[in-house]
Amino acid sequence: MSSPPSGAGRFAPSPSADLHIGNLRTAVLAWLFARSTGRRFLIRIEDLDDRTHDDVARQQLTDLAAIGVTWDDQPQWQSRQRQRYDAVIVRLADQGLAYECYCSRKDILSAPRAPHAPEGAYPGTCRELSDAERATKRETGRPPALRLRAEADEYTVTDLVHGSYTGVVDDFVVRRGDGVPAYNLAVVVDDALSGIDQVVRGDDLLSSSPRQSYLANLLGYPQPVYAHVPLVINAEGKRMAKRDGAVTLAELGVAEAFGLITKSLSWPAADMADLLRQFDPAALPRQPWIYQPA
Ligand code: GLU
Repeated sequence: MSSPPSGAGRFAPSPSADLHIGNLRTAVLAWLFARSTGRRFLIRIEDLDDRTHDDVARQQLTDLAAIGVTWDDQPQWQSRQRQRYDAVIVRLADQGLAYECYCSRKDILSAPRAPHAPEGAYPGTCRELSDAERATKRETGRPPALRLRAEADEYTVTDLVHGSYTGVVDDFVVRRGDGVPAYNLAVVVDDALSGIDQVVRGDDLLSSSPRQSYLANLLGYPQPVYAHVPLVINAEGKRMAKRDGAVTLAELGVAEAFGLITKSLSWPAADMADLLRQFDPAALPRQPWIYQPA
């Protein structure tokens, strides 16, 4: 008999607002993917940007528990782990794998791009600056971001929903101009150090996964398997927002929210245990769920 995987899955909300029904559904799916494969399940509060929103984070944990998501270990808070990101950033810089970038968002969007580079991909403007050029830039006052010196243009990840997915790797930011570790770096470091080997999240992040996986590989971390699940959209085909009506657990109530989630998955279930018994990743709806509140 093969032993169960020792790894873990996770849900990693940013505490910017109460979880809406779409976030809750993604959390339920992440839990199902993990538990159905014998993995542990961890929660990480991604509060590097939203350090002041402790109350929102706590409400998110309360809502996750209310819907029946269970987790192992104490939830982790990114803002309490700054040293671990800083250590990795120093390591990258020491190895010549990071460089200072003085570009504004506008500079990047207006710079000429390679023919197939997507909008927003970094065109490499500051990659080969000389020491003298860098000294001049420093005098302009804009504190530089630190970018990864990537040696690949693209990278391939394994995704349980999308199959083998190849996407762009550019010289992405690892530390922002304000000194805060960038999301793409923090997520890779946290997943690896927590033993997370299964990343289930909304498919708005699918295109970030090659960058993250590339960085994980560069740092000698194991590659997680991904499952980017369809998002919930409103009747106009847009990302769901407050004005779409009742969307949070407080507004819907637990029974209604759970019922909507199971209905959207076409696996009617009484509770999470029941849902787990029925969970079949192959039968996961591939289309966004169009949410229309009653
Ligand atoms: N914190 C991100 C969000 O709430 C998710 C990051 C991830 O799952 O990698 O959108």
